[in-house]
Amino acid sequence: MNHFEEYCTTFVQEVGNKEGAVSPAVTNSASFAYGTPEIAEGIFDGSVKKPLYSRMGNPTTAKLESIMAKMDGGIGAVATSSGMGATTLATMSLLACGDEIISIGGLFGGTYALFNETLTHFGVKTHFFDVDELDEIKKTINENTKIIFLESVGNPNMRLPDISAIAKIANDAGIVLIVDNTITPMSISPLKLGADIVVYSTTKVISGNASALGGCAVFRSINDGDDKFKTPRYKELHKFIKGAGKMALIPNAKKRAMRDLGMSANAHASYQTMLGLETLPLRMDRIVQSIEIIVKELDKNGLNINHPSLESHPHNQRYKKDFSKGCGTLFTIDLGTKERAFEFLNKTKLATLTANIGDSRTLALHMASTIYRDFDDEVKGFLGITDGLVRISIGLESPQDIIDDFLEAVK
Ligand code: PLP
Repeated sequence: MNHFEEYCTTFVQEVGNKEGAVSPAVTNSASFAYGTPEIAEGIFDGSVKKPLYSRMGNPTTAKLESIMAKMDGGIGAVATSSGMGATTLATMSLLACGDEIISIGGLFGGTYALFNETLTHFGVKTHFFDVDELDEIKKTINENTKIIFLESVGNPNMRLPDISAIAKIANDAGIVLIVDNTITPMSISPLKLGADIVVYSTTKVISGNASALGGCAVFRSINDGDDKFKTPRYKELHKFIKGAGKMALIPNAKKRAMRDLGMSANAHASYQTMLGLETLPLRMDRIVQSIEIIVKELDKNGLNINHPSLESHPHNQRYKKDFSKGCGTLFTIDLGTKERAFEFLNKTKLATLTANIGDSRTLALHMASTIYRDFDDEVKGFLGITDGLVRISIGLESPQDIIDDFLEAVK
């Protein structure tokens, strides 16, 4: 039995149909005919469950959303046009001018720019912390704090958070915890650890082959009794709790973000993403096993490798305890200088040079000259970006072939 066995049955059974076309139908229509004005009225007031308009939801995408919700044990999910769309939807649907975010770990460059630049234009301030600065995080929480945002694995700094401890801080303070679980789908189940919302870039390992840009936010249900969403801090949500009860976070996300900002998934990408889900557990299982073999061998050969499975990594114990199903497809090699990094990237024959991660193929990228090129030295230092840093995303190739190729490329 592999670590991901439980998901193998769920995904293939949920994606395929038992009657008619086995493969999911792709509904390539932007709009839907209502037939009668009475039905139109019912669709708009929510009493008739039929598609309204593809910006607000599409039948193919709805199927993907139900599988994603099942994967994480959520009450529902909203699929988006990209991973950044999912982060924007989850955050913007809860934020107002004057609110504050506490961002912990990583951080993927696009998310950092959203928090540190774009959201500041709308009066939202973000405080950034390393995963182990729990005391500082507690001290920073105030009446304006609306969201604690966490990356399950620092991309690309490879630091691992104690998700349960951070969830406890968020829950004690009555603040929403959003986890970006892009790198560890199934390995980590944030809602079970106490998070409220999980966001994904499905573009990565979930699709797995660079065929579809997409994202998804998975939401927990609202509790019958006390719930942090029922407190005055989240007063904007109360009308949705009144109307939709347990499901309130879904209409809130759709109306506050999707309807107005339009980061909607397209049906074809949702279809491609479901095809990816069918093989996701098998691919994850292979990659998390390969990566340990690869980093161990490269480390033994004197390369400066950053991966939590190595004894020398500061979060090696946390990796063994909390990340026993692996921490995804990534590790980094610090080659010391940009010149050495470029030399390696020009010599490797197996790695494909691209900004993506989580592909069937092994991918590589020099960080400082690409995704993080616009950031100053202080921010790069905080995010762990050094001149010689190359991010690697391991694919499905033979681990020995990757080891041989990388050792040859650094000669
Ligand atoms: N979150 C993480 C951890 C990522 O690595 C990425 C990568 O691009 C994103 C979010 C954004 O996803 P997308 O490119 O699908 O918008």
